[in-house]
Amino acid sequence: MTDHIRPQLGIMDIALYEGGAAHVAGVTDAVKLSSNENPFGPSDKAREAFQRAVHKLHRYPNTDHASLRRAIGETHGLDPARIICGVGSDEIIHFLCQAYAGPKDEVVFTEHGFLMYRISAMAAGATPVAVKERDRTTDVDAILAACNRRTKLVFIANPNNPTGTMIGLPEIERLANGLPKQAILVLDGAYAEYVEGYDGGAALATERANVVMTRTFSKIYGLGGLRIGWGYGPQAIIDVLNRIRGPFNLSTAQLEAAEAAVRDRDHVERCREENTRLRAWLAEALAERGVPSDTSTANFVLARFASEAEASACDEFLQTQGLIVRRVAGYGLPHCLRITVGDEASCRRVAHAIGQFKGQK
Ligand SMILES: *Cc1c(COP(=O)(O)O)cnc(C)c1O
Repeated sequence: MTDHIRPQLGIMDIALYEGGAAHVAGVTDAVKLSSNENPFGPSDKAREAFQRAVHKLHRYPNTDHASLRRAIGETHGLDPARIICGVGSDEIIHFLCQAYAGPKDEVVFTEHGFLMYRISAMAAGATPVAVKERDRTTDVDAILAACNRRTKLVFIANPNNPTGTMIGLPEIERLANGLPKQAILVLDGAYAEYVEGYDGGAALATERANVVMTRTFSKIYGLGGLRIGWGYGPQAIIDVLNRIRGPFNLSTAQLEAAEAAVRDRDHVERCREENTRLRAWLAEALAERGVPSDTSTANFVLARFASEAEASACDEFLQTQGLIVRRVAGYGLPHCLRITVGDEASCRRVAHAIGQFKGQK
């Protein structure tokens, strides 16, 4: 009788998300460069806050996240009332789709955009619309051409994952200006901290009624395992999202570790500087070995190979060397491998191994 029990339309069309691999069979000291994690981990202050939270495990967490929102607001110069915190920025993306898109509505994102946009749109019963990029870069004209009366949300990761490219604020502003009146522009700033001087779209989200910014503690803050993210935007939209947020969506440990992390600006600064230096080194080392990449503004490099077969053979060779990188065929880039910028030793190892792979052929 189970065929009477059916999920909502569209749910069974969702392809399961596959995370970056973490292990290679038979290798004990594998280096994981597949999930854009911070090789230096979180701030010591965040670790200490997490440990202190052990004394409060029997208490329910605070529901309004006021202390964390205040810390984020002070750090970024934003009004805490217009900030919402979630279980990773994934949860904010989910809230936006759930609150603003449903059957017959369209959710727009770019062809090599983050997979969660499609998943959350489909979970809400909306129609996902993938728009072509130009040379692996967001194409504002193509997005505007894809919008219509049914468009409710437009997601742009800037910098984008997995391409590593980004577009400038004037282009983003042109996009915000050109959208149909009922559509919200969501600027996903998961990698914004890696770009010196870039506010992730905060100023735009402050000024405009149709722009929301999402941010995460999973990347430069090195807290991917703890699951904390946030969104910032017009008060009216944040008020809507708060209605569907579970009151206890974040635990005390998450709230307190995130607050300590956001207040440790030195850690963020050091991680950004190391990433910038090692990313340039890695991209150059790969180019010298015959593997080009677009100029990355994030904490990974998208290595391009001649064919899907070559990318796949290189991935297999890297695994034999204990190096785990990310296949991105699911992002429409079968001839590429996404390689997280690790610490210096990991960057050297992966560049050396790719040189060996290229030399064997
Ligand atoms: C990693 C990443 C995120 C972060 O997701 P969390 O749920 O906060 O861990 C968001 N957007 C993009 C484009 C990412 O690559």
